[in-house]
Amino acid sequence: MTSPVDLPPLREVIREHGLSASKALGQNFLFDSQLLARIAAIPGDLTDRPVLEIGPGPGGLTRALLAAGARVTAIERDRRCIPALAQLGEAYPGRLTLIEGDALAIDMPGLFDEAPAIVANLPYNVGTALLVSWLSADWLPWWRSLTLMFQREVAERIVAKPGSDAYGRLAILSQWRSHARIAMPVHRSAFTPPPKVMSAVVHITPTEAPDDICPAKLEAITAAAFGQRRKMLRQSLKCVPGALDALEALSIDPTRRAETLSIDDYVAIARQLQPIA
Ligand code: SAM
Repeated sequence: MTSPVDLPPLREVIREHGLSASKALGQNFLFDSQLLARIAAIPGDLTDRPVLEIGPGPGGLTRALLAAGARVTAIERDRRCIPALAQLGEAYPGRLTLIEGDALAIDMPGLFDEAPAIVANLPYNVGTALLVSWLSADWLPWWRSLTLMFQREVAERIVAKPGSDAYGRLAILSQWRSHARIAMPVHRSAFTPPPKVMSAVVHITPTEAPDDICPAKLEAITAAAFGQRRKMLRQSLKCVPGALDALEALSIDPTRRAETLSIDDYVAIARQLQPIA
């Protein structure tokens, strides 16, 4: 933790800079400093560590990250927030780098010499698109961990285990070479304005990937299996060349359904497939 810095209350910052929440930008702000400090603690000790925050808005989470000792790079699309964030940067000289722009269009790995912890409370559609791109990139990834707010139903899909309704492509993508857990449920009333649904913070850390698996093969097999999740595998996997032979070679019963196979089963099937061009 760095020494406390005197800052005006967030609600005052919002009033002063006219930052009424924009629905179009998916803005639901967090003001509770204790809750924000708990979220900032999820990635572990941030003292002098690089953190990439996407969508800082008026800067509540940014404050908590700076107070935890992080060096923060923040990407915010809403230019109304930039002057308020610049004031926060003045309170923590040399520790906050601001980038105004759309995180979906910025070369993020190019911003860092050392792998950052990524932390974000984003609109759910933007958060999911970024998560999929981060998990699909080359391994080991350019980031150290992901600490991301999602609507609770999406968080449950990320950490889901075989046999559950929530288990599917997102669970497999999130867990075949990472640990993923729900670090904290967050009640809708914690946000201003409150969204319709409950939220949860997910924490993901990368692990070594099996080095003989091409992610495209795993994607092909899980897309086919869960594209028709109520069908038996012998039907849903028909369209993937070599998949039915792989089931036989692995002694996986082709009358099973997609959600009954473990992540290791999918990895083993992908390993048996011919290279995908
Ligand atoms: N982090 C703040 C908090 O917790 O109070 C604000 C959270 S608000 C849910 C999401 C923020 O992400 C908004 O400030 C919004 O302008 C920003 N945002 C939305 N889409 C973005 C994008 N594509 N790139 C960067 N920022 C984005």
